[in-house]
Amino acid sequence: MKVVKNSKEMLRISSRIKESGKTIGFVPTMGYLHEGHISLIRRARRDNDLVVVSIFVNPIQFGPNEDYKKYPRNLRQDRKIARDKGCDIIFCPDAKQIYPKGYATRVKVSGLTSYMCGASRPGHFEGVTTVCAKLFNIVRPDIAYFGQKDYQQAVVITRMVKDLNMGLKIKTMPIVRERGGLAMSSRNEYLSPQQRRDAAALYESLKEAKKLIRSGCRESAGIKAAMRRMISKKPGIHIDYITIADPETLRSQNRLGAKSLIALAARIGRTRLIDNVLVDCE
Ligand code: AMP
Repeated sequence: MKVVKNSKEMLRISSRIKESGKTIGFVPTMGYLHEGHISLIRRARRDNDLVVVSIFVNPIQFGPNEDYKKYPRNLRQDRKIARDKGCDIIFCPDAKQIYPKGYATRVKVSGLTSYMCGASRPGHFEGVTTVCAKLFNIVRPDIAYFGQKDYQQAVVITRMVKDLNMGLKIKTMPIVRERGGLAMSSRNEYLSPQQRRDAAALYESLKEAKKLIRSGCRESAGIKAAMRRMISKKPGIHIDYITIADPETLRSQNRLGAKSLIALAARIGRTRLIDNVLVDCE
């Protein structure tokens, strides 16, 4: 497995690969790899001739009071995991490689970014789309893999790729969960054992919502209230939002549609966690 830190070198390598007619599968990450990331790497391995994984904690997608500095990092461990799972190239630039002196360009998707995490984290998605646009230009993938865990991110990136004719495919893969149901996340590392147990209530509330829907409930307000009741049994969890929304437009639905996204964000201590499920009411 090759480790590349320089953007120009990465672009040279990916251009050579493309010229040889081989396909590139790309998994962009912020590192501290876990089974969620690994599921994307495995899928990329299955679908493509070569697999590139990027590890870059992107400063511009963090707000001023967020966890950029203390975001968990372990490049040595990530290199080993990526190599064992069949990655061919790790691209791990530093912030100066991606945003050199004089850097001035941003990519912004409007509309979709005004809801959910976009409302609670101003500027976050602009940071995400900007870095992904850059990474796509450097890595030149045929397919890039994203997780449903960050559902809004996947929708926003898909929109950007379409709107800007970027000529790659976005594949969104299912959420990988811990045994207790908590969605895997590098940020779970911040949680104490007690917080980790409590955090399972988030997925429990999503399962409760699915149960209510199966029993015929279609009013969003009632479902969201039931979810809140469940989560509030754990005093350490503060809900940022719970939404029931159209899975494509992300606009909230008062009544469930044929398809709905149920998504939430919550804080446990200083750790912000997100989760979601898609439901089919047809
Ligand atoms: P991150 O390193 O957190 O930026 O995540 C990199 C990619 O892995 C994103 O596309 C995430 O949606 C995806 N991902 C993170 N956690 C999970 C998970 N538990 N299941 C599936 N995909 C995930």
